[in-house]
Amino acid sequence: MAHASSKPLVYLVGAGPGDPGLLTLKGRDAIACADAVVYDRLVSPRTLDHARPDAVRIYVGKGPRSHAMPQEEINGLLVRLAREGNVVARVKGGDPFVFGRGGEEAEELRAAGIPYEVVPGVTSAVAAPAYAGIPVTHRGTASSFTVITGHGRAGKEEPAVPWDQAARLGGTLVFLMGMERLPEIAEGLMGAGMDGATPAAVVRLGTWPEQRTVEGTLDGIADAVRDAGVENPAVVVVGQVAALRPRIQWIERKPLFGRRVVVTRARRQASRLTRALEARGAQVTEFPVIEIAPPSSSEPLARAARSVEAYQWVVFTSANGVEAFFEALDGAGRDARALADAEVAAIGPATAAALARHGITRVGMGREYCGEGLAEELAKSVRPGQRVLVARAQESRDVLPRMLEAAGAHVDDVAAYRTIAVGEGAPDLAAELRAGRVDAVTFTSSSTVTNLLACLGGDTALLRDAALCSIGPVTTKTLRDAGLEPAVQADEYTIEGLVDAICSLWKGGSR
Ligand code: SAH
Repeated sequence: MAHASSKPLVYLVGAGPGDPGLLTLKGRDAIACADAVVYDRLVSPRTLDHARPDAVRIYVGKGPRSHAMPQEEINGLLVRLAREGNVVARVKGGDPFVFGRGGEEAEELRAAGIPYEVVPGVTSAVAAPAYAGIPVTHRGTASSFTVITGHGRAGKEEPAVPWDQAARLGGTLVFLMGMERLPEIAEGLMGAGMDGATPAAVVRLGTWPEQRTVEGTLDGIADAVRDAGVENPAVVVVGQVAALRPRIQWIERKPLFGRRVVVTRARRQASRLTRALEARGAQVTEFPVIEIAPPSSSEPLARAARSVEAYQWVVFTSANGVEAFFEALDGAGRDARALADAEVAAIGPATAAALARHGITRVGMGREYCGEGLAEELAKSVRPGQRVLVARAQESRDVLPRMLEAAGAHVDDVAAYRTIAVGEGAPDLAAELRAGRVDAVTFTSSSTVTNLLACLGGDTALLRDAALCSIGPVTTKTLRDAGLEPAVQADEYTIEGLVDAICSLWKGGSR
C-alpha cells in the first residue's frame, strides 16, 4: 500500500507571503511533483504555476461570496486524496505553522497513518514589515519580536496575550489578523501603560504588488487605517522599529511600484520584458496574444535554404525569422557556412543577437530598428541586379521588399514563419481592463496590436483608460490605424527602450 511506505504523500508547504519569488526551492519541488494541490486564498496564482498541468487544483479558501471550507473538511480532504494514492501539496500562505493550522493538519495525517513533510515558508509576520522597510529586530532598538493573533482567545473578547504582558515585552509586537480589532488592540496596549507615541505601522498585502503601508503612532494608527481604507490582510507592527521605515523603505521607491502592466507578446518571448518590468516593481500580467507557427507553405523557405548561394544579400527582420531560416538550413543538411559569401543584414539588436548565436556576427544593421530605417540603408548598399533574400513573417508589410526593388534589386520575399493569434484568457483581461485594473499595456510589434484587438473582439474602448506603450514607430502606426493613441513610444526601439519609456510615464508621480 502506498501510504505504508515512508515516501511522503502530503507536503504542508508554506508559499510565502505573496511575492512568488519568496517560495522556497523545496516548496517549489513539492508543488511540482504533486498530483493534487490544495491551496488557500493568500497564495499567488504564480506559485501554482509550478504545478503540473494535469495536477488537480482544489481551492479551500474564502472567496468574496463563499465561506472557507471548514478545517475538518480540509483535513478529511487531505486524508482522502492521500489514500487515493495522490501526492498532495497543501499550500498555505506564509508559513504553515504560523497561524496556518498546519499543526492540526499534521496531527490529522499522523492519526490516519499518512506520511507527510513540512516545508516552512517565509511568514508575513516578518516579510510584510521587511517589504515596508521595517526590520522586526534592530540592534539597540528591538531585541525581540512577538507575533500575536488579533483574534480574541477562543473567540472571546479577551486578548490572545494579556495586554499588560504584551506592553511589558519592550520589543516589537506583530499582530496578524488584527485589522478588525485594531482599535481594541491599540487601546488595550495603551491601557496597560504603553506610550501612545510608540511608532506603529500597518502593512496590507505585503510583498504583493498591491502592497500598501500606513504609518503612525499607537494612539493614531486605528484612525489612520480607517481613513486610508486599508483592510485585511494586513500585519500591524508596534514598536520603535516602525520609525525606521523612512530610512530603510525600498520597494515602494521603485519606478513602477504598484503599477499593473499587461505584457502582450508571443507565448515564449515575454519573459525578458516581464522580468525587466518586475525588477522595477511592476505587477505584470502576461497575455500571450501570438504564437509562432510554421508558414502556410514551408517549401519557399526550404528552397531558399537549399540555394542560398544564389543571393548576394540575406535580410532578417526578427529573431523568429533567423531561427526559422537556420532550421530550414539544417533541414537541407547545411549550416552557417552557406552564408559565407552573402551580405547579411538584420533589423534590430535582438535579430542580430539571434544571428550571432548561429555564428554570424558581421551584419549590417539599421540604426532605426524598423522596416523603413533598414530599407533605406539597404537600398543605398544594394546594387541594381543583385538578388536579395528576405526571410520574415508571412504577414509582414511590403515596405521593405518594395524599397529594395525600387533600388533595382531582385527580391525573394519568403515567409519563414507565421504569427497566429492565441489569446486564451481574453475574457479575464477584458474584465480587468473594464474594471480599470490595468495601468499600462505594452506592444512590442504590430502583430501584438492586431492580435490583442482580435482577442478583445475589436473593442478598442476597453483600452481607453490604460497607457498604451509602443516599442517603435511601426507599432505606433498600427495603433493609430486602429484609432488608438499610444501614451508613450520608446526612444530606442528595444525592450530596454520600452521599459525606460514606461518608467518615464510615472516619473515623480506616486500613487
Ligand atoms: N501562515 C500565515 C499567516 C496566516 S493568518 C503567515 O505565516 O504569514 C492570516 C493573516 O496573515 C492575515 O490576516 C494577515 O494578518 C497576515 N498576512 C498574510 N499574508 C499577508 C501579507 N501578504 N501582508 C500582510 N499580512 C499578511
